[in-house]
Amino acid sequence: MYCNYCGKVIQDDANVCAYCGKRVGAVLARKKLVRPRANRKIAGVCAGFAEYFDLDVTLVRLLWLIVAVMTGVGLLAYPIAWIVMPDQPEIRSLPAGQQLTTP
Ligand SMILES: [Zn+2]
Repeated sequence: MYCNYCGKVIQDDANVCAYCGKRVGAVLARKKLVRPRANRKIAGVCAGFAEYFDLDVTLVRLLWLIVAVMTGVGLLAYPIAWIVMPDQPEIRSLPAGQQLTTP
C-alpha cells in the first residue's frame, strides 16, 4: 500500500510509515475523539483533543489552562470531557482492516 502522507510504497501491514514516521494503520481511528492510553497527564482529555485536531499536546494543555483560568469554563469542561470521551480502544485487538469511521 501507499503512505497517505508521503506517497511512498510501504508494507501492507505497516502501522507506521518507514519514511515519514506517520501512523498509517490507524489513520481512520485517528479521527475519533478518544482519550489515548499513552501520553496522559490526568485523564488524557488534552491528549485526545491534540490527536483529533493534529495539534501539539502541550499547546492544547496550555490553551486549556489559559481558558480555564480566564473564564473558568475549562475547569468545568475537563471533567465533562473526561466523562463523555471514551477510552481509546486497544488497537491491537482490532481485526486488520476494520473501519472505525461512521458513515
Ligand atoms: Zn510516509
